[in-house]
Amino acid sequence: MARHRRRTYDEAIGPDEDANGIPCADCGCRHSYVIRTEKIGDLIRRTRRCRYCGRTFYTSEA
Ligand SMILES: [Zn+2]
Repeated sequence: MARHRRRTYDEAIGPDEDANGIPCADCGCRHSYVIRTEKIGDLIRRTRRCRYCGRTFYTSEA
C-alpha cells in the first residue's frame, strides 16, 4: 500500500519568490506577491496577496 506523503510547504508553493519576504498577516508565511502599488503622499502602499492562504494585506514603505 502506497504511503501518502504530506506535501511540504515548498513542494506545494515553490521557493519564496518575494525578495522583500514580507510575512503574511494571517499565516505568517513569506509567500506573498504584490498585486497593486499605490503612491499616497510620501508613502508607497503595496497590496499583497498570500500565495498560501489567499489573504490580502497591505504594506507601507516610506
Ligand atoms: Zn498567508
